[in-house]
Amino acid sequence: MRNGFDVIVVGVGAMGSAACYQLAARGASVLGLEQFGIPNTLGSSHGESRMLRLCYFEHPDYVPLLQRACDLWARLEHDSARKLLHTTGGIYMGRPDSEFISGTLRSAVQHRLAHESLDHAQLAHRFGQFNLPKDFVGVYEPGAGLLLPERVISAHAELAMRRGAVLHGQEPVRDWQAGDDGVVVHTDRATYHADHLVVSGGAWSSRLLGDLGVELVVTRQIVGWVWPKRPELFELGALPIWAIDNPRRGRPGLLYGFPILPGSLGLKLAYHFPGEPTTPDTIDRQALPPDEDDFRPALGRFIPHADGPLLSMHVCMYTNTPDSHFIIDRHPAHDRVTLACGFSGHGFKFASVIGEALADLALTGRTDLPIEFLGLGRFG
Ligand SMILES: Cc1cc2nc3c(=O)[nH]c(=O)nc-3n(C[C@H](O)[C@H](O)[C@H](O)COP(=O)(O)OP(=O)(O)OC[C@H]3O[C@@H](n4cnc5c(N)ncnc54)[C@H](O)[C@@H]3O)c2cc1C
Repeated sequence: MRNGFDVIVVGVGAMGSAACYQLAARGASVLGLEQFGIPNTLGSSHGESRMLRLCYFEHPDYVPLLQRACDLWARLEHDSARKLLHTTGGIYMGRPDSEFISGTLRSAVQHRLAHESLDHAQLAHRFGQFNLPKDFVGVYEPGAGLLLPERVISAHAELAMRRGAVLHGQEPVRDWQAGDDGVVVHTDRATYHADHLVVSGGAWSSRLLGDLGVELVVTRQIVGWVWPKRPELFELGALPIWAIDNPRRGRPGLLYGFPILPGSLGLKLAYHFPGEPTTPDTIDRQALPPDEDDFRPALGRFIPHADGPLLSMHVCMYTNTPDSHFIIDRHPAHDRVTLACGFSGHGFKFASVIGEALADLALTGRTDLPIEFLGLGRFG
């Protein structure tokens, strides 16, 4: 077996598959090593859908990256000849002075993104699915939508392999070393050598990367599917992606969800807020009846027409940084190692452009993409 590569990518999930694709597209020899299947349901990238929105309340600096990500999503759809995203529009609801609504508008205005501000009456008229407090307003983003995560990872992985990448599923990386001459990666099957290592290990990043001087907290997240009392109001075409400001313990939190997708059973919704801290090895992956409390009370309050029987629940993981912003950088102790981690529950929509940034950093040591604000340096 060939074991010398330009780049080895550890973790072929959302970010790693995109990195493999970008590296292979540039003619680099690349090996992707994934401990589970490609794709899998044990990391952070399963569950049918991920929101894609550009009016980004988290910080306006993300918007140029999102614009580039969208170009790359369109290219991936074209090159793979697969349906990977639905443009549904997005409706964001909350009090005007909330971080969610004010931050959404700040990004929209600063980057001249198409959007509409709706007062309470307009919101109630346009989106009768929701029952909101009188002081709630809305921001509608026509260009928002959703990505199909398992298909996206498959598309990136397949195109990477068609361009020469070697991807191995079910092959956990046990350890790695980096020196002046290159990197060495050990698995139970073989020892591999490369010029550069990309580590995109999701919830396992702390174990793979050692001490970065930044705590990454893995949390257990619940996603639910319910059968609405009036399903016709919640189907693709009738409902955009949606999010409602619903703070918890003084911190912003969002009840959010998706329209019912063809071929999928029920309305998917979840609460965007870090759940119980856990580890990827000890997490209880079985969703239990009390987990429904994560979203059921807010569902009854804000979306009574959807407050029907539970169909299923999934367990997923967030990997949270102290400031909820991503980390993309060189390893502080190893020039030949690039890392992407800490996506804090909002990273999937960026995967295409993060793959591009990782390929730039691995092959040339620099990138023109505006990712400085995501570097480790911000933690001091
Ligand atoms: C419930 C939920 C809802 C979300 N909703 C959204 C949303 O609407 N929009 C959005 O943009 N983002 C969303 N996110 C966040 C987004 O899905 C994640 O940020 C993103 O998928 C993380 O990608 P990743 O590549 O870092 O991790 P993963 O996709 O989990 O990939 C990491 C991979 O590394 C592998 N790995 C780890 N250790 C090893 C090893 N030693 N050897 C080999 N392989 C290894 C793992 O098995 C895994 O496959 C959501 C996340 C969750 C959990």
